[in-house]
Amino acid sequence: MIEITLPDGSTKEFEKGATPMDVANSISQGLARNIISAKFEDTIVETTTPLTENGALVLFTWNDQEGKTAFWHSTSHIIAQALEELYPGVKLTIGPAIENGFYYDVDLPEGSISEKDFQKIEQKAIEIARGKHDYKMRSVSKSDALKFYKDQGNEYKVELIENLDDGTITFCDHDSFTDLCRGGHIPNTGIVKAIKILNVAGAYWRGNEKNPQLTRIYGISFPKQKELTAYLELLEEAKKRDHRKLGKELELFTFSQKVGQGLPLWLPKGAALRERLEQFLKKAQKKAGYEMVITPHIGQKELYVTSGHYAKYGEDSFQPIKTPKEDEEFLLKPMNCPHHCEIYNAKPFSYKDLPKRYAEFGTVYRYEQSGELHGLTRVRGFTQDDAHIFCMPEQLDQEFKDVIDLSLYVLESLGFENYTAQVSLRDLDDPDKYIGSVENWEKAEQAILNAAEEKGLNYVIEKGEAAFYGPKLDFMVKDALGRKWQLGTIQVDYNLPERFDLTYKGSDNELHRPVMIHRAPFGSMERFIALLLEHTGGNFPLWLTPEQAIILPVSEKHEKYAEKVLKSLENNEIRALLDSRSETIGKKIREAEMSKVPFMLIVGDTDEKENTISVRKHGGKDLGAITITAFTDLVNTEINSTLKSF
Ligand SMILES: [Zn+2]
Ligand SMILES: [Zn+2]
Repeated sequence: MIEITLPDGSTKEFEKGATPMDVANSISQGLARNIISAKFEDTIVETTTPLTENGALVLFTWNDQEGKTAFWHSTSHIIAQALEELYPGVKLTIGPAIENGFYYDVDLPEGSISEKDFQKIEQKAIEIARGKHDYKMRSVSKSDALKFYKDQGNEYKVELIENLDDGTITFCDHDSFTDLCRGGHIPNTGIVKAIKILNVAGAYWRGNEKNPQLTRIYGISFPKQKELTAYLELLEEAKKRDHRKLGKELELFTFSQKVGQGLPLWLPKGAALRERLEQFLKKAQKKAGYEMVITPHIGQKELYVTSGHYAKYGEDSFQPIKTPKEDEEFLLKPMNCPHHCEIYNAKPFSYKDLPKRYAEFGTVYRYEQSGELHGLTRVRGFTQDDAHIFCMPEQLDQEFKDVIDLSLYVLESLGFENYTAQVSLRDLDDPDKYIGSVENWEKAEQAILNAAEEKGLNYVIEKGEAAFYGPKLDFMVKDALGRKWQLGTIQVDYNLPERFDLTYKGSDNELHRPVMIHRAPFGSMERFIALLLEHTGGNFPLWLTPEQAIILPVSEKHEKYAEKVLKSLENNEIRALLDSRSETIGKKIREAEMSKVPFMLIVGDTDEKENTISVRKHGGKDLGAITITAFTDLVNTEINSTLKSF
């Protein structure tokens, strides 16, 4: 007999060789019907894997991310089978599940796959799925596995197998199809009721541009047709909110092939918006005791050798800039931290001076392969709302809480209500991996957990996810379409103070090491503005939006009055535009709607006579004729309801 421990802590005895499905059946048949994947002792197993020893078992349904992962990966096998049948000679490579769906990378013998082929692949795949074929894992010797794929002439799978150890190689069969796979499948293909191919793209074998280019087929699948329909509607909405599209329509930013890929150019409206975001954070940071610093865009190679960044990123990133002087080399700044460490080192500090909080909107450069670039979310140059706090270990607790307060203030002022936090801690089984004393780690981890608890954050703990130099807390934001974005990180660091030999004089007159905290509530200005665009669909909060109002004179004869209105709005610090084109008022209203300006101020005969403006909200709501003073009050009330002071 074996003893199985369930997530609620209860244990149950089973015959040796019982499967996760047997365990599910012993709990309830209803549960068994919904179980599609399982985890035994931290390893994902099949629902049919015989369990031969005592251990902890977790069962997953479609509602768990692990269940979805098994579901989508299993569908990738079905797609691969469909491709083999439709494109004889196709060479399969890898087909993992991703956050939403799966992909399969294939080498096509000839021709290409385009959107017009999607439907026939989907049809073939769903036909296969309906066969309710079981997924069956089997062990294969390395020589047999190699022979199987050498016979097919599939050099990709051969390469994969060559890197595996004999005795660990498994194949997965369903129907007449076989794939090299380490496992993690749903019970059978029949559970997959709806399959959609979403996209096709080029992808290099093993992500290396020196390797052959493959065809990557992206897809998604669901256990119910209506879930696919809902998902496709969501995608349609996401397309409308794509920040690249909105950024162009709202004239916020652009890219130029001449300037270079992944290097955004901010247009006047985008620059002004970004400036407002920066001012907003600067104001709060000032109250929180931060001091602004400015550092150059490059630094001597030696600086990054000291910081360790060169060893980590040097080879795969922008190469050093040389000067006419021999051996003089500079690097584009990949991180602001080394510069800030040297600012700290510029003068000796005592315990009375700490914490020091240095903030900078620092632009950094990181090389990304061209295929990885995406609008403002994956770029080669971006500006972090960076700051580094240097404090005594006993101050960490308070500093961490204060940073959380600031981060929450940012999220709330920008209309993000749905967020969680992830706390990354050490792997206690592998203590040698980490720099810094055990005592300090315990203190830091406890400080983060206390802060998360005290601030009432909804958080999850990830053991073993901490960086080697310190634990951290990440904010995850859910946008209006339910998509998750990782935002600002708060990271404790014991490594850089060591590498840069940072010290302070303690009350005991001895020198001590400060602890460093890296933090960036926005993450980067580029990524944050992309998120804001997609979250709000371009309807920014009133305090942030490029223009708050647009004045629309009914005809030319109202223009003088319209100009007077514009002046008074400007005097009241309201950002307004005047549309004085000789277009019909109907057309002007339509275009103002498109440009998402929150208020339209229509001025005609009556308004001029009564000294009023006729206010129409974006979206169509009519607020009637009011005075400019009343309008100013209206704007300020709305701003103050979202933008509280820190
Ligand atoms: Zn598989
Ligand atoms: Zn940093």
